[in-house]
Amino acid sequence: MALASPAPRPADRRSVVVVGGGIAGLAAAWELTGGEVPDIDAPAVTVLESSSRLGGPLHSELFGGRMVDVGPDAFLGRRPEAAGLCRELGLGDELVPIGASGASVYARGRLRPLPAGLMLGVPTRWWPVARSGVLGRAGSMRLLRDAIAPRPDRRGPLGDRALGPLVSRRLGRRVVDTLVDPLIGGIHAGSVADMSTAAVLPLLLAAASQRGGLMRALRRVSPASAPTNEDAPPTFWALAHGMRSLVECLEAQLRSRGVEIRTATPVERLTRTGSAAGWTAETPGGPVNADGLVLAVQAGVVADLLAPHDADAATLERTIDYASVSVVTLSVPADGVSLPPGTGFLVPRHTPSPLAAAHGDDLLLTACTFLDAKWPRLARPGQTLLRVSAGRAGDPRADEMDDAQLTNRVVAELAAILQMTGTPSESMVTRWPAGFPQYRVGHLLRVSGIEAAVKRLPGVAVAGAAYRGVGVPACVASGREAARSMLASLRTRTDEPSGPGPTS
Ligand SMILES: Cc1cc2nc3c(=O)[nH]c(=O)nc-3n(C[C@H](O)[C@H](O)[C@H](O)COP(=O)(O)OP(=O)(O)OC[C@H]3O[C@@H](n4cnc5c(N)ncnc54)[C@H](O)[C@@H]3O)c2cc1C
Repeated sequence: MALASPAPRPADRRSVVVVGGGIAGLAAAWELTGGEVPDIDAPAVTVLESSSRLGGPLHSELFGGRMVDVGPDAFLGRRPEAAGLCRELGLGDELVPIGASGASVYARGRLRPLPAGLMLGVPTRWWPVARSGVLGRAGSMRLLRDAIAPRPDRRGPLGDRALGPLVSRRLGRRVVDTLVDPLIGGIHAGSVADMSTAAVLPLLLAAASQRGGLMRALRRVSPASAPTNEDAPPTFWALAHGMRSLVECLEAQLRSRGVEIRTATPVERLTRTGSAAGWTAETPGGPVNADGLVLAVQAGVVADLLAPHDADAATLERTIDYASVSVVTLSVPADGVSLPPGTGFLVPRHTPSPLAAAHGDDLLLTACTFLDAKWPRLARPGQTLLRVSAGRAGDPRADEMDDAQLTNRVVAELAAILQMTGTPSESMVTRWPAGFPQYRVGHLLRVSGIEAAVKRLPGVAVAGAAYRGVGVPACVASGREAARSMLASLRTRTDEPSGPGPTS
């Protein structure tokens, strides 16, 4: 796509400040300036980002001579928003499909392949789970009860239920601990014990209200039961030059559209300017005036910024808490490790560590990705590239270790789990404090409340992972949706603009 030249700024041009330069904020800026086709009548847009770079966790580092993602390394192919944005930016040829399928779970003392027929960890068939041995005899027999003597819930539907207890009641506790929590909990770095089914897996809520067995009901409602279309997108896409290339491309094209992007510029306070609809974002570099604000920052930051203006919105935002995650990338000698097939493995919560030195502590690592199996472009002869995750809601141990302690601990755990010998030739630790918002039961009710409260503030919209999906496609959709509602509200407002944009 050709880069558009900066648009002129007539005196009556509206202005929007996007607070937060993660993918949701950048997608909002893209949509505000026209999306795929630049709009010469677009408002003047300023992106204010507190850190020294854009993209939030969408970041890649040079590691052993190749660009390795240290935040998300893929996004869902079934959702069109992220791949669609890449194509609009001219990155369509750089989308690469995942290079392997399947994964393992560390269950009953060793790695075992995840059985077929899971819906985000929830079994839809008995036999593949029983044959895989992941649950053991007692767990498999308990699961069989759902097939032959189901316990449908006759207590009447609820708008939301905690995911873990819902599945546990129908399929047994071991299914939850061994499969559901590692998979769904893993995606959110959370715990399914109090996770919102309506927000995370609404199909399960629908299936749970049907008659008969839960697995059978899931098969009926599952899109996976539809015939496979040859043109269907892959399960996951990545970008050939890393997720950072998406952020860099967005930044370049936004700048060429005249968007002002300021990094290292935290918004410390929001104040109302003279007219009812005007806002000023106070930053250490000076105030920035705008007719509209898109707040694409973590929920706690939104709470602080909105507290003087709407106590209800701030209180609801504050109820969304976050889990921190650490990522350790390792290059290990290929002849010192033999990996099972698939893209990696998951570790259930509360798995006792096989290390004698751990003195009965649980395993620290939560997941390991076999990077060069998942993304063949990263493979190098003689090396194996591993990416280990540690930290989840309720487990702060990784945060309490320094980088060397964390690396030593996960390497020792990998040595025990994978029978890995040899030491890594290279390692890199990346920390993501407050990386994952926790969608607890009632989350969507809270989000509806936030949206209703924010609507009472003229010219304000919120976007990002805190609300209706943590994945990159959901964040892109959220940013673009916030931008569209902002454009609509600017069009319907009759008051005078507050000024031509940034004042500093
Ligand atoms: C380790 C990790 C792995 C992940 N893996 C995947 C994956 O494989 N696939 C997938 O789809 N998703 C994945 N995700 C989730 C996804 O990456 C995130 O949910 C998404 O990037 C969040 O985007 P966002 O724009 O909502 O928030 P952020 O990217 O967090 O953006 C918010 C921005 O606001 C800035 N900010 C904060 N306060 C202020 C302030 N006062 N003023 C100005 N700016 C401020 C922050 O610095 C940040 O840049 C992963 C996330 C993490 C952490």
